[in-house]
Amino acid sequence: MRQAFKIEGTPPKYRAFTLQTFQKIPQIARLSKEEKFAIKVVGNVLPFRVNNYVIEELIDWDNYQDDPIFTLTFPQKGMLIPTHFNQMATLLKQGASSQVIHKTANAIRMQLNPHPAGQIEHNVPQVDGIKLTGVQHKYRETVLFFPSQGQTCHAYCSFCFRWPQFVGIDELKFAMKETQLLIKYLRQHPEVTDILFTGGDPMIMRTKAFASYIEPILQANLPNIKTIRIGTKSLSYWPYRFLTDSDADAMLDLFKRIVDSGIHLAIMAHFNHPRELQTHALEAAVERIRSTGAQIRTQSPILAHINDDAKTWATMWQQQVNLGMIPYYMFIVRDTGAQHFFGIPLVRAWEIFRDAYKQVSGICRTVRGPSASAKPGKIQILGVTQVAGKKVIAMRFIQGRNPNWVHRPFFGEYDDKAIWPTELSPAFGEKQFFFEQDEKQMLVDKQTATTA
Ligand SMILES: *Cc1c(COP(=O)(O)O)cnc(C)c1O
Ligand code: SF4
Repeated sequence: MRQAFKIEGTPPKYRAFTLQTFQKIPQIARLSKEEKFAIKVVGNVLPFRVNNYVIEELIDWDNYQDDPIFTLTFPQKGMLIPTHFNQMATLLKQGASSQVIHKTANAIRMQLNPHPAGQIEHNVPQVDGIKLTGVQHKYRETVLFFPSQGQTCHAYCSFCFRWPQFVGIDELKFAMKETQLLIKYLRQHPEVTDILFTGGDPMIMRTKAFASYIEPILQANLPNIKTIRIGTKSLSYWPYRFLTDSDADAMLDLFKRIVDSGIHLAIMAHFNHPRELQTHALEAAVERIRSTGAQIRTQSPILAHINDDAKTWATMWQQQVNLGMIPYYMFIVRDTGAQHFFGIPLVRAWEIFRDAYKQVSGICRTVRGPSASAKPGKIQILGVTQVAGKKVIAMRFIQGRNPNWVHRPFFGEYDDKAIWPTELSPAFGEKQFFFEQDEKQMLVDKQTATTA
């Protein structure tokens, strides 16, 4: 059976650093005064949290300014537009009260589209007239579940679109304590086959807490539920979760129980750069998870300053496959938070995807993308092409609010600057895209159903 993970000396103990404590990180002494100040300015608006594994095993401090993992976890000046940066910088220099800083931070956050893709208004289901605020049901087969105890992460990604959940402005935080309501909902919706545990990061929970969500679901023995997915960045940010944490073995046993119950367990692992795949701890954690019978599928957005070149993606997919993981999605950075810093044009994302895809064998080509999780659905950029002498962008839905929209190619006017599908106009003089009328009607119907 499973081998115990052996580590020389004492097992590493998780230690987080935040805006309040980052100056205690020894390597921070290498930063200039301006860089440290920028961390404070941006960290007051966007979430910031890093830990000892990321600092000691992932970041190359000799080259921190260009280091992808440093950029991934440490706030940088460019992540706020100059007016917002200066607004906060001025307050900090004046020694403004925490109340004033907080108020300004919230005002800036409200300008960063904190709830992209209509997440709050449109995807919250109901059971017996009760809103399931910790659940989102957008695509027929899959329900997202945000357990209230899993709304944080082992470190924070500077591009995170879930950022309002971490910075305390989110009154409608998608979270709920009640697994029972979810089970009831799943009974009433036999079309649902997948439950996706997400957050934050559900693997931040102690095994006992996580089991308190999983066990009732297993006991309910829902015939429609075929797959449990766990969206997590823990393999990248704290692989010791599956190795040496005091309840690591218990978590793996729980995974095994899920698999033994006949449910497919898919760990949806989030990796942004090959660097995250290269530590012994990661390798051992993947091996232990796979020994439970769980599959690991991988996904990441394509990010300027971190992974916006084809070689990085090709390497990432190959290394993932070598480790026994299955490449799943390449996403386009959402229209929220620091999109202006991380976003790249759709056309460029497609070029990088294609260039990486053609370098790898079919075994890696399970990956799909680049895909934008927009309001109507997951829109894949199929690429730039010519139709009757006209240059256009071909797209299709990988997932749609209406399942009927899926895999029907459609065309947008060529635009090499657009970074989000809503910036594209329909090609060939069409007034709207084929799904738009239907989408409007669906949202109206939903509104009526909720207010009735
Ligand atoms: C991506 C996503 C899913 C899962 O879609 P799959 O294509 O089945 O992986 C479910 N719900 C939402 C809201 C999503 O964005
Ligand atoms: S791990 Fe996911 S939820 Fe957590 S900060 Fe990163 S992107 Fe956001």
